[in-house]
Amino acid sequence: MKHRITLIPGDGIGPEIAASVVRIIEASGVAVEWETHYAGAQALEKFGETLPQALLDSVTRNKVALKGPVTTPIGKGFTSVNVGLRKALDLYANLRPIRALPNVPCRYPELDLVIVRENTESLYAGLEHVVVPGVVESLKIITEKASTRIARFAFEYSQREGRKKITCGHKANIMKLSDGLFLDCFRKVAAEYPDIEADDKIIDNACMQLVMRPEQFDVMLLENLYGDIVSDLCAGLIGGLGLVPGANIGEKGAMFEAVHGSAPDIAGQGIANPTALLQSGILMLRHIGEREAADRTESAMLQVFIDGKVRTKDIGGTANTAEFANEIIAQMK
Ligand code: ATP
Repeated sequence: MKHRITLIPGDGIGPEIAASVVRIIEASGVAVEWETHYAGAQALEKFGETLPQALLDSVTRNKVALKGPVTTPIGKGFTSVNVGLRKALDLYANLRPIRALPNVPCRYPELDLVIVRENTESLYAGLEHVVVPGVVESLKIITEKASTRIARFAFEYSQREGRKKITCGHKANIMKLSDGLFLDCFRKVAAEYPDIEADDKIIDNACMQLVMRPEQFDVMLLENLYGDIVSDLCAGLIGGLGLVPGANIGEKGAMFEAVHGSAPDIAGQGIANPTALLQSGILMLRHIGEREAADRTESAMLQVFIDGKVRTKDIGGTANTAEFANEIIAQMK
C-alpha cells in the first residue's frame, strides 16, 4: 500500500535534514508518495501567503504530514507558521519523547521521559495587542475543554504505552485562575485512571528537579508555553536539540516534526543532525501502521549510534548530514 504524505521541508536546515530523512524512510521499504508544500517565508514569496490553502488541504486530505522547521521572525513580521498549522488543523496534543541515544555524550544517558504539551492555548497562542503606545497585553487563555482534552490524552497515552506516572507542571500558586483551571482538569481526569500515579509540581521547581533528578519523571503534562521551554531543557539533558522528535496529534490528523527550530546559524552547510526529524519520521511510520519499517529504521539508526563512528558535529563527530544518512541506509541493506 502506498501512503500519501504531506512533506513540508521548511527552511533553514529544514530542506537539508528533510532530504536525508526522506531517503532513509524510502530505504526502509515503505511506499510513500510525498506531496511537497512550502510554508513561511518561502510560501510568502511564491504564493503571497505564509500558510497556503493548498498546504492545509493537502494535510487535511492525507491526515499525516512530516514537517521540517519553519523560521518565525522575532519581534516583527508574520506570525508563527508552526502555531498556525497546529491551530488550523486542531493538532491539540504535542508529544515529545525524551530518550538518550547510545554513545551520545550527555548528562543523563538513562533518561526516558515523555512531554505531553497542550498545543493550542496559553501565551504561546500569541494573542497580543498594543493597549496604548508603550503598553502591550498578551492573553493567556486556558479553557476547561482544552485542558481536559489534553489531560485525557496524557492518561490514555500513558495507559497505552505502559507509563506509570504523570506529573503536571504549573504555576497555580500565582496564576490561580488559568493554571489553577489546568491543574483542576488534570486532577479530575486523573481520578478516572487510578492505576496511573498523578503528581504535580510548580513549574520552576519542576525545572530544577529536571536538572538534578530527572529520573523521577515519567510523563510530564504541560500547558503550551511551559511545554515549549521545558522541551528544550530536556533536549539539553540528553545531548541537544538535534535529537528530540515530536508529534502533533489531533482528531483529524497528525503532523510530525523535530523539537528544534530552523538553526539559521548552521543552515546551508549540510552539517545539521537529521536525527530529530528522523525520529519524528519513525513516530510517523508507527502512526500510519508501518511498524516493521519503523522498527527497521530505528534499529539501523541505533546501530549507527552504537558503532559511534559516523556522527554529526553537534554530538562530537565530523560527519555531515548526508554521510550520516548514508550510514543508516547502509545498515538497512
Ligand atoms: P525556534 O525558536 O524556531 O524553536 P530555537 O530557539 O529552538 O528555534 P534552534 O533553531 O532550534 O533554536 O537552534 C538552537 C541551537 O541548536 C542552534 O545553535 C542550532 O544550531 C542548534 N541546532 C538545532 N537543531 C539542530 C540540528 N538538527 N543539528 C545541529 N544543531 C542544531
